Amino acid sequence: MKKCFIIVIILLATITFANAQKYVFLFIGDGMGQTDVDLYEAYLAEKEGKSGFTQSTINKLPLLSMCSTVCKNRRITDSGAAGSAIACGQKFNVGEISYLEDGDQPKSIAKVAKEKGMKVGIISTAPMNHATPAAFYANQPTRKNYYQIGLQLPESNFDFFGGGGLLKQTGNKKDEKDLMTIYQESGYLTFTSLKGIASLKNHDTKVIFTNETLDRDASMPYAIDREGTPGNSLAEIVETAIIHLDSPKGFFMMVEGGKIDYAAHDNDAGTIIGEMEDFDNAIEVAYNFYLQHKDETMIIITADHETGGVSLGIADNGYESDYGVLSKQKMSMSKFATILKKQTKNEENVSMKDYNDLASRYFMGIDMEFSSDEEEMLNEAYAAINAKSNRAKDDAKSKYNGINPMAYTYCQIMNRRASVGFSTTAHTCAKVPVYGVGTTTPILDNTEIFGVIKSFLEK
Ligand SMILES: [Zn+2]
Repeated sequence: MKKCFIIVIILLATITFANAQKYVFLFIGDGMGQTDVDLYEAYLAEKEGKSGFTQSTINKLPLLSMCSTVCKNRRITDSGAAGSAIACGQKFNVGEISYLEDGDQPKSIAKVAKEKGMKVGIISTAPMNHATPAAFYANQPTRKNYYQIGLQLPESNFDFFGGGGLLKQTGNKKDEKDLMTIYQESGYLTFTSLKGIASLKNHDTKVIFTNETLDRDASMPYAIDREGTPGNSLAEIVETAIIHLDSPKGFFMMVEGGKIDYAAHDNDAGTIIGEMEDFDNAIEVAYNFYLQHKDETMIIITADHETGGVSLGIADNGYESDYGVLSKQKMSMSKFATILKKQTKNEENVSMKDYNDLASRYFMGIDMEFSSDEEEMLNEAYAAINAKSNRAKDDAKSKYNGINPMAYTYCQIMNRRASVGFSTTAHTCAKVPVYGVGTTTPILDNTEIFGVIKSFLEK
């Protein structure tokens, strides 16, 4: 009888323990295909003077599946439909934010966690009301409803929002109430310093962290462009979020590396590597947390879709590759394009030599002796940037996808020397990797992530 009583006590204790703290980290690399992880690992190897790949933290997670990202009405998805599929466990149309065409508004896994009494954090290097983070707290028929998405942020009552700023902060016509004011009135404390959050006496307060430096589109600067600017890395934000969110019932945290996608749209391999490093360092923070809380922690890392059709190896280089070349790149191509525009604004007849000098000074960091192929590329870009007729201008715009032709071409030269190829400046339907720890269930479709996390929360 006594023995039986002890067993019951032990069983009860186990059940109580099983229902205790749960920690979930969901990392989403926006636009991160398998080859972006490969590119980053090849770069790490090159930095150590090795051939092959050096294991990233991402690849330390034992589970790896390849997952389909197709959405309801298209094979090639966008962040709205894909983020919503991950958040809510069902398929959506392009552009929808956790909102179905019949008006149904499914509950995201973040809201499920919140209802269970867990604390919730939503973190992104992109703006807070951008598609992927929005899918976890808002329900809107279109991702373009930035202000309406922003209005739904405090309704979620989530505990930590952090990273980028806000798009359309005062509405489309700039005549609406400032979203930040609304957040403050709803009880959120707003910060541009992580120290301020870490040193809070009461971590039950709801907080919003906005990085000190933001780009004009309200996103955090690219990692490659952050040096010398005030602000933080994604890893530092995750570290502070852990301090703030730790609670008796645990937490759910969605962390988006939002600008891998931006860099891939620009076909800018050097900047992709910087974004991957920033993302991987943030994952390392979560991985170290997992090592200390093994039985209670789940980490899932995936992407909403692949961007750019990134390939490692290009025909022009035969079988040669040198991804270390990309470490010489001095800034993102988009920042360089802004500098080029500024520097050549009031100049007439900017010569090719002028452009080369600017590229050498601000961007390339490599030997400026160009091969005949590279010279040809530059001559075409030079003709495009000096296009006079409307037709020639239109041709240049479509050929270079609206990107400054000279900046794009210098970047292409960097990619070529490294042996990185891109097949598009848009998204692809290539399957994306899902890495995991805390689960052994293979994930073959993005809608399955919801169920895997939900069953972990119910364990
Ligand atoms: Zn995109």
